[in-house]
Order: sequence, then C-alpha cells, then structure tokens
Amino acid sequence: MSERNVVVVGAGPAGLTAAYELSKHGVPTTVIEKDPTMVGGISRTVNYKGFRFDIGGHRFFTKSEEVNRIWHEILTDQFLTRPRLSRIYYDNKFFHYPLRPFEALFKVGPIETTHCVLSYLWAKLFPSKEEVNFEQWVSNRFGHKLYSMFFKTYTEKVWGMKCTELGADWAAQRIQNLSLGKAIKTALFGRKGDASIKTLIDQFEYPRLGPGQMWERCRDIVESRGHRVAMGRRVHRIHHHDGVLTGVTIVDAAGDLEKLPATDLISSMPLSEVVRLMDPRPPGPVLAAADQLRYRDFLTVSLVIDTPDLFPDNWIYVHSPQVQLGRIQNFKNWSPEMVPDPEKTCLGLEYFVFEGKGLWTEPDDKLIELGAREIETLRLASAKDVSDGAVVRMEKAYPVYDAAFQAAVTTLRIWLSSIRGVQQVGRNGQHRYNNQDHSMLTAIFAARNVLGARHDVWNVNVDAEYHETMDRKQPQKVSTDSPTPVA
Ligand SMILES: Cc1cc2nc3c(=O)[nH]c(=O)nc-3n(C[C@H](O)[C@H](O)[C@H](O)COP(=O)(O)OP(=O)(O)OC[C@H]3O[C@@H](n4cnc5c(N)ncnc54)[C@H](O)[C@@H]3O)c2cc1C
Repeated sequence: MSERNVVVVGAGPAGLTAAYELSKHGVPTTVIEKDPTMVGGISRTVNYKGFRFDIGGHRFFTKSEEVNRIWHEILTDQFLTRPRLSRIYYDNKFFHYPLRPFEALFKVGPIETTHCVLSYLWAKLFPSKEEVNFEQWVSNRFGHKLYSMFFKTYTEKVWGMKCTELGADWAAQRIQNLSLGKAIKTALFGRKGDASIKTLIDQFEYPRLGPGQMWERCRDIVESRGHRVAMGRRVHRIHHHDGVLTGVTIVDAAGDLEKLPATDLISSMPLSEVVRLMDPRPPGPVLAAADQLRYRDFLTVSLVIDTPDLFPDNWIYVHSPQVQLGRIQNFKNWSPEMVPDPEKTCLGLEYFVFEGKGLWTEPDDKLIELGAREIETLRLASAKDVSDGAVVRMEKAYPVYDAAFQAAVTTLRIWLSSIRGVQQVGRNGQHRYNNQDHSMLTAIFAARNVLGARHDVWNVNVDAEYHETMDRKQPQKVSTDSPTPVA
C-alpha cells in the first residue's frame, strides 16, 4: 500500500480508529488534531489536579463484535465492569431511570397520581388532532401531566428551545417504542427475554481511568507503529483537481502552513466545515447547505467536594426547573480511580448551551459558584463543601436534528462523493447523533476502503441493535448519550 498516503482529520474515536486500522496494514498515515494536547475528542478524559472527568460519562457498550475486539485489543485488562444506577431528580425526589411507573406514581402522591391518570385518559379519549410538535406527540401518548413532569423541562434544557418548536419527528425517532402500557407491563412482569440486553442496561464497561485512557493508548500504539499524530494543527485547505483529492494544507497555532500529499482523506471534522475548506470552493448551494447545519454545545462544571459519599448514582437527570444544570455525573461511581482522594467526590455538572452565548461566555469562577449554588438548591451537597472546580467547554457536542438537517446532509454528502479520496466519518463528520461504536465502525470501513474495499460509510447502523426499551424487533435508532432521558 506504499502508493497511498492518508491524512486523517481528528484524534477522536473515529480518527484514531481509522489510523489504528491503517497502521495494521502499514499504510502511511498522518493524524491531524486541532487540540494542542488532548486526544479523544468528545470521548476525552480531563485530568484536573488528579481528578478525572469525562465530557458526560462515557459508557462502553456495543453490539459490534468488531468494536469490542478493538477496545479490548487496545486496553487489554484496563476495563472495569461497573454497576449502573441513573435516576431522574424531580421535585426533590429520585425516580429510577428507565422509569418504573409504579414507583413514579407512588412517589408523586395520590393527588398528582390521580391527575396523571386523568390526564392520560383524557389524552386517550381526546388526543390532539394535530401532531406536529414534540409536546403534542408526547402528550398524546402519555397525557399532558406526565409530559410536563418527565419530558418537558429536560428536553427544553437540552435543546434550548420550546417543546412546541421541536418537531414530532424527533419525539417519534427517540421514543417511538416506549408506551405507558409497555412500561407498566415491564414494571409488573419484569424484563423478559434477552439476558444480554438486561446486562447491558444494568452494568457497563468503563476504562479504569476513563475513556481518555482508551484514546491515549490508541494514539501511543499508532505512533509506535511509525505514524505521526500532529497535535495543535488544523486543516487549512483541502486541495482537489478534476474530482480527485490532491493534498491537504494544515496550519499550526503560529500560523505556519504545511502541505501534506494525500491520496486519501478520512475526516471526522464537522461536515459543515469540511466543504468550506475545499480548494477550489464548492458551488453556492453546497455552501448554503453547510450553513444550515446547527449544533448544541456543552459545558461541564466539575466540582471537587470535601465529602466521601454523596449519592450512589453514576449520573442523575435533573428535571427541576429551578436550576439550569441538566445532568450530574458522579465520577467516583464510574471508577474509584477517577478521584485521587477517597475522602473527596468529583461531580460533573452538565449545562447544555450555545457557543458564544449565555453561560458559555461566563468566567470560570462564576460558573463554579453557580454550580455550587445549584447543587445546594438541589440538596445534593452543601456549597461550603465545594473546595475546588474546573470548567470545560465542548463545542459542537450535539449535532442538531431540525427540520433542515436531513436535506442539508444529503446535499453535502452527494457533493463530497464527487471527489475521489475524501471520506467523512464519525459524529460531526456525518452529522450523526451517535456513540463511539458508530464513529469507530464508520472509520474502520473508511480505512478498509483505502485498502480496496467498497463499503458505504454512510450506511453504518449500530444503534438498531440495542436499545433501553429492549424491543429488538422494532429497534430504535437512537444514541444512548441520550440527553432525552426517555430515550
Ligand atoms: C454528553 C455526551 C455523552 C456521551 N456519552 C457516550 C457514552 O456513554 N458512550 C459512548 O460510546 N458515546 C458517548 N457519547 C458520544 C461520543 O462522545 C461520540 O460518539 C464520539 O466521541 C465521537 O467520536 P468522533 O471521533 O466521531 O468525534 P469527536 O469525539 O468529536 O472527535 C473529533 C476530533 O476531531 C478534531 N477536529 C475537529 N475539527 C478539526 C479540524 N478542523 N482540524 C483538526 N482536528 C479537528 C476535534 O478536536 C476532535 O478531537 C457521548 C457524547 C456526549 C456529548
């Protein structure tokens, strides 16, 4: 394969997996990563004075044998199997997630329960005839009361828009198989059937030192096989001629340019950005399609708290409208080694934001103060026990699925397919709301295409194989990084 020269953009799960696969076959490969020091992309682990935290906790689970094999090849004995506990926090009470209907109804008390039941019956007898938005879709299936308790606040925090502005399609895609009837059946008779799926839900694998450990190790292997991982470099221009890729120019923090010859580009950079860097530039409608793609960004406020045990959950979905945070991770419960001092706890408070607006622009110390206040408001810890904190801003954490995205992705995908040698992989690379395993599989297929295979990297669907509702006949195509706790 010495006649091939591959440039991989991004040292996240997709990019590093592509390089890992190519390095097995001795294909000359250079990985370009814009972050000056950290690999792993959204699946990185940040180390703050020995306290480790993820950008959202990252479970390792997959139905793909191939992905599983690679994970274990890379990390060998470094995986822990962890019990899972995640609950919804609403009205100062905890509710198991996935929801247990009897527990939920018991905890909300007889008056609210009656309200839920009546509103459910009302929805069944007099459903909203129009079902175009998220609110109408969910209320028709669960009743308006349950919708307002367990769907509305969290969904609006995550997407930064009203549930009446979110399409019914989104609800249908994310929660299509969940019905109150099924949930009650599960509560009465338990989860029947596939023991392996039950296991996936009740426990998960996690690297001893967080997901970053996987991707740091993967980078080390790729480098040890003689390939370059160039940190702190961005793509400046992607050159093509007569429908064929000819090279990639990259730029470092000082503005110095470097031209890399390339027969192939495997890119996990955002789909909206890759076309803007093409030289010559694509036609106007393609650039207009790139402008249509939107993202939701993510801010983690990590708090070091001088208390050994706060709560047993790995993470908690916070539905309470009186705080801005949406989810809380307790990293010690992911792996005890995430915290250097057993007398302390490290919580990751998650805020869903837009880059450059609102909380995103607040100074870190103000955000840490906000986090400490909110955790006290929720009565989960005392603000005076917060001894330290750190803030991480992650742009483009969630590709937005709005009314325009599908047509825009199709336009971009068709235009990119006209340039031989260019392949888009991964989450933002394909504007796909996915997990690590999907990103990795797209990358494995792209690498094999370089080696002569003919896979359609846009048609990888790992999500269809597993979902929390455990309905294998009608799989839901969702990601379990799932900001919507019903999905
Ligand atoms: C809150 C949250 C929780 C999640 N939980 C889970 C979970 O439990 N389990 C799970 O499997 N998955 C989870 N995911 C999903 C997982 O993070 C992603 O699927 C995965 O990181 C995607 O990998 P990627 O390589 O495609 O993209 P990314 O992780 O985004 O990596 C892309 C890399 O490309 C680099 N890059 C971008 N543009 C350029 C450029 N122009 N030049 C050079 N470099 C560039 C970026 O800096 C980044 O390092 C979660 C995601 C979120 C947001």
